[in-house]
Amino acid sequence: MSAHNEKETRLKEINERWIKDCTCSLRSTATQAVPGDGNASADIVFIGEGPGRDEDLQGKPFVGAAGKFLNEMLGTINLRREDVYITNVVKYRPPNNRDPLPEEAAACYPWLAEQINLIDPKLIILLGRHALQRFFPEEKISLVHGKILRKSIIGMGMRNFYALYHPAAALYNGGMRGTLIDDFKKIPKVLQKIQSV
Ligand code: URA
Repeated sequence: MSAHNEKETRLKEINERWIKDCTCSLRSTATQAVPGDGNASADIVFIGEGPGRDEDLQGKPFVGAAGKFLNEMLGTINLRREDVYITNVVKYRPPNNRDPLPEEAAACYPWLAEQINLIDPKLIILLGRHALQRFFPEEKISLVHGKILRKSIIGMGMRNFYALYHPAAALYNGGMRGTLIDDFKKIPKVLQKIQSV
């Protein structure tokens, strides 16, 4: 088996195990888990907030309006969804799309950490303030979007992050939308830069 196929198999096993074992209380109201989608050997992992209505029904992240916008932005840097891995801080839809609670994010965290450790991406892109908060509780998205952040994370080692406004938040806010599109276009340069250090 190729190294890539082996990673795909192991990622599938991780997700299947956590679908059974995750203790997040959102399980009781969600239709199903939304583990993540994409390439197990990806250079880039995107982390959003949590599944919305469409994601909850389809079992896949970013398949609604925000997902369409994310796909369009990926296209502008010549990437397809199959080239990256996309997941969320919480793997279950919060009722009525409310913000995930800290204990829900904490319950889903070991699952997220295992995904990241297996994929071992060069860059983790944090979509919005909830994903940012998970790794950089002291930072504000309005201040750090479009910047490379580097941090040693317990259980994950040294990691490169890049924070962006959340596509759903930017979708209907002209200023934020323009900023997100500009920050997104810098991703190839960010990847180059972190690989040259
Ligand atoms: N918003 C998110 O944060 N994640 C999804 O999967 C969809 C919308």
